[in-house]
Amino acid sequence: MTIFPVKEFENIPTPFYYYDLNILRETLNEVAKHSSRDNYHVHYAIKANANPQILSIIRDAHLGVDCVSGGEVQAALNAGFSPDKIVFAGVGKSDWEIKLALENNISCFNVESEAELEVIQEIAQSMDKSATVALRVNPNVDAHTHHYITTGLAENKFGINLEMLDHIIERCIILPNINLQGLHFHIGSQITETEPFKKLCLKINELQSHYENIGIKFNSINVGGGLGIDYDNPDENPIPNFKDYFETFHNNLELRPWQQLHFELGRSIVGQCGSLITRVLYVKEGVKKKFAIVDAGFTELIRPALYQAHHNIENLSSKTTDTEHYDVVGPICESSDRFGESEILPITSRGDLLALRSAGAYGEIMASQYNCRNLPKSLFSE
Ligand SMILES: *Cc1c(COP(=O)(O)O)cnc(C)c1O
Repeated sequence: MTIFPVKEFENIPTPFYYYDLNILRETLNEVAKHSSRDNYHVHYAIKANANPQILSIIRDAHLGVDCVSGGEVQAALNAGFSPDKIVFAGVGKSDWEIKLALENNISCFNVESEAELEVIQEIAQSMDKSATVALRVNPNVDAHTHHYITTGLAENKFGINLEMLDHIIERCIILPNINLQGLHFHIGSQITETEPFKKLCLKINELQSHYENIGIKFNSINVGGGLGIDYDNPDENPIPNFKDYFETFHNNLELRPWQQLHFELGRSIVGQCGSLITRVLYVKEGVKKKFAIVDAGFTELIRPALYQAHHNIENLSSKTTDTEHYDVVGPICESSDRFGESEILPITSRGDLLALRSAGAYGEIMASQYNCRNLPKSLFSE
């Protein structure tokens, strides 16, 4: 459980991110403990949080990286990750991004369309390189998550539809600078049940049998990420159930003896270690409601505005046990700039520090400068 050094916070300009590095390390230990099989490779989805200090801890835990842009490939290299542990996904890779990845000999492109495959071939040929690729397949598995973050259904910009897969695999075999290594999947995010992952395994089993029947074998399977965190109970459940997660794949996926299994976890690794710390500017009395107006907005944490997500809100300063209902809102000139509606908080006043919990993933990294605001700074435990 995160214990906030509130005294220390008093002297620091708000808003800022606070990272409990013990939670991060404990989380990484759990990942290591349950993914220790020789053929398992865990990549950290760097888009969740690319704070250099966070990255150095993840690198020291020997994870690889999953990138979705050239900037992320560069950030991973800058943080000292080995290129042979970097994979590169994304529906819209620019030529410079493909070149950067080839120059640095990253381990694999997760290719999302035939058009992209042809461009990678062209660029690899011009550089006299061979590009190792996995095909991102759209397995048509419903992740039962928010529609903005489900990615594995048929009508989706991500991945290659099953009907087109045979043809693209043929192209991979023909193209001289393409080395097809395997299949890649990613069905969505914030998945808190094991059932969608089990369905994914069964789908992969089907596909593997189909391709083996026509003489095609894959060296690797990449099942993506998507394991969720408990946003409602960050102190009770600071670490996701990695045991069940990895066991679901172990028990359901018919991996061949020569195959490597790759995972790409983002949120589940960094989500619970971060909180956004903000100060109450004003308590505004409405007709029927009270508003706690804070100095953080969706510029620092956009998930509530973008995905209707909810982060637990804690008042770190209040000494009373008497409570009141507040709409907790930010200063940005948009109605969607709201962190909570009718939140029950201890009586709250100007100057109180609030913590928006479980904000380690898709928080700081999605910060913007809208309204000419400064990007948030970060503070670390110890
Ligand atoms: C975002 C993403 C991930 C990580 O998703 P999480 O839900 O944060 O685990 C993994 N793989 C790909 C291709 C992604 O786009």
